[in-house]
Amino acid sequence: MQKNNLGYPRIGARRELKKACEQYWSGKTGRDELLDVAERLRRENWKVQQEAGIDLIPCNDFSFYDQVLDMSLTLGAIPKRYNAVLTQNKENTELDLYFAMARGYQKGGLDITAMEMTKWFDTNYHYIVPEFHKNQAFKWFSSRITEAFSEAKKNLDKTPKPVLIGPVTYLLLGKEKEEGFERIDLIKNLLPVYIEILNKLKDLGAEWVQLDEPFLAMDLSEKEKEAYRLAYTTIADECKELKLLVATYFEALGDNTALAASLPVSALHIDLARAPRQLDTVLDAIPDSLSLSLGVIDGRNIWKNDYEKSLSLIDKAISRLGRDRVFIAPSCSLLHTPYDLDAETAIDPEIKNWLAFARQKLDEVSELHKIAEGNASLLEENRKAQESRRISERIHKPRVKSRVAGITEADTERRSPFPVRQKIQKKRFALPLYPTTTIGSFPQTPDIRKLRAQLKKGGISPGEYAAQIEKATVEAIRIQEKIGLDVLVHGEFERNDMVEYFGELLDGFVFTQNGWVQSYGSRCVKPPIIFGDVSRPEDMTVQWSRFAQEHTGKIVKGMLTGPVTILQWSFVRDDQPRSETTCQIALAIRDEVVALEKAGISMIQIDEPAIREGLPLRKKDWPAYLDWAIRAFRISASGVRDETQIHTHMCYSEFNDIIAHIAAMDADVITIETSRSQMELLEAFSGFRYPNEIGPGVYDIHSPRVPTVEEMVVLLKKAAILLPAENIWVNPDCGLKTRKWEETEAALRNMVKAAALIRKEV
Ligand code: GLN
Ligand code: ZN
Repeated sequence: MQKNNLGYPRIGARRELKKACEQYWSGKTGRDELLDVAERLRRENWKVQQEAGIDLIPCNDFSFYDQVLDMSLTLGAIPKRYNAVLTQNKENTELDLYFAMARGYQKGGLDITAMEMTKWFDTNYHYIVPEFHKNQAFKWFSSRITEAFSEAKKNLDKTPKPVLIGPVTYLLLGKEKEEGFERIDLIKNLLPVYIEILNKLKDLGAEWVQLDEPFLAMDLSEKEKEAYRLAYTTIADECKELKLLVATYFEALGDNTALAASLPVSALHIDLARAPRQLDTVLDAIPDSLSLSLGVIDGRNIWKNDYEKSLSLIDKAISRLGRDRVFIAPSCSLLHTPYDLDAETAIDPEIKNWLAFARQKLDEVSELHKIAEGNASLLEENRKAQESRRISERIHKPRVKSRVAGITEADTERRSPFPVRQKIQKKRFALPLYPTTTIGSFPQTPDIRKLRAQLKKGGISPGEYAAQIEKATVEAIRIQEKIGLDVLVHGEFERNDMVEYFGELLDGFVFTQNGWVQSYGSRCVKPPIIFGDVSRPEDMTVQWSRFAQEHTGKIVKGMLTGPVTILQWSFVRDDQPRSETTCQIALAIRDEVVALEKAGISMIQIDEPAIREGLPLRKKDWPAYLDWAIRAFRISASGVRDETQIHTHMCYSEFNDIIAHIAAMDADVITIETSRSQMELLEAFSGFRYPNEIGPGVYDIHSPRVPTVEEMVVLLKKAAILLPAENIWVNPDCGLKTRKWEETEAALRNMVKAAALIRKEV
């Protein structure tokens, strides 16, 4: 029985790589310093894995930015626009070319845009999207992978296992940059390079090689399935002496089980944390030649493994395959979990005893192995921890559970249908056509951030902090009045982050000090942990909204984060369905909405930017998810009277295939990001498909550029063709917290002018 690991976090337990990269980018340090930090991190990773007793230790899982970009560089899939990076400036190295692809390059008269970035399956990790052209040729460009193997070999007692993204997944992760071909057709051009690399690794002494093929767990077309067969029979023919391990994760193999089992490789890895029930079907399907790597430890979450549950899977596999053909492993790369629970000194010990981060998960692999070999004594402590979690009063709040169980149909519905509400609200607010507003946050200046840091360190008292935040809020109100916006916001100065702020005020959440997880490049997030039943001990935002409202004669929108987004951006409990947790959060938000209404707030925005990213990876699972996600939003929004206007906001996303569900959220107003697509995204909302009011974003907030009045008028005219004028709002694409005040004021002044111009045309 081998102890297997698919990959390890690389940003550093103290985010050393983040700091080293950012210093290198800013020119403060040189290449050697960066390479040193990277080497140290790799060595540390190998050391902890070796100490934990892992047999198949990955190498080439390290990356300076992203493992998909590494693959593009390795395979010579380098878009032409980057040629100049090396030719024009002779001092630049392969590493500079690499960072140019990741981040764009603006130096020495060159101005080259970065490659696109998108989400890695349903995680919060973002990868750099490969760019493909018709008949594209590949060649082995970067020797990083063989260097990684040689370096690992020097540092380890056992032979390291190189990790590569498999050829089919690599192609499917990319995008066609011209018409007239499908990227999967490039497989024939790609395979020779894989074979060359694999054979070189074998020459250097590699035994096992891991090829990541998560697409085997996704919906595949016939052609894509055929590409799998072709790819792996070709590789198996050409690389006979290597043992290949094909790794799948994030979903069950499902209808691809027979395909995956038929690939002529030595081992298959499956995700049994996400999809434990697939073990039976996979066991039925695999031939005698195949070993099975059991991903029993959740690589996507932070909970201590339930050994009994895992052992029942491991024992079943052993009894069918024999010990020699069974590997024990985390479900996926540990990239998605924080480094080390031991670094958390502030988490309550009772809760801490329920958790495991990357380093602890390695120990779990090892302990499960020992238990499966007969050392049952290790079971007892784990059993106790699981039991304490099952019964803890910290987690289980009968009042919360019974309230969720008691939710009725009526709790998910506003009192009157939208047309009735719209009439009442139009009369109440008496806003002009094309009312102007913003999405919520105003610039989080260094001064504001400093205040929060001081409060945390005890440098200022909560009273002083509040006074300063109040001052910033009043200033923001005055600025908005001067600009002439119709509906104001309080500016969100008191919030560090739109999820963390609420998590800190809700019961059932806990926060880490060092629980960083890579999001993209050098960026990390520190997701809150939802460990127990969620409830709202007291008001969370009422004080700030009321304060802002008292300082102006105009309407100030209340500002909340929605239940699905809070769920989506946290580590979530694994002891109850996600839908149940979301319902609990929805009730807490609902209470806050009602409290805001009571405090005299007449418009309340509930942000749900993460609704779309929560969509399951397999289409067949979409309806069930959309059902509970939309219901949760409706629960949070439906406690108020008809004259209270509920807004929601969503960032850049395709709405076409889920527009009926967006409409079913029944917010009185939705603001969406549309400017970057020139209102193309708005088309989903046209016709009768979306009856409620809409604020299509008229300018992009991701850049400091101040939009002109004219360009916003053009966009609004486009919107007016698609929607009835009485339904249109005017606002930016998203919140303005990352912008500076100067550009913010200038942009909003132009936006208000654009609204005035379009009103004249009606
Ligand atoms: N209200 C939030 C803000 O303005 C919304 C942010 C978001 O959509 N991600 O910052
Ligand atoms: Zn947004």
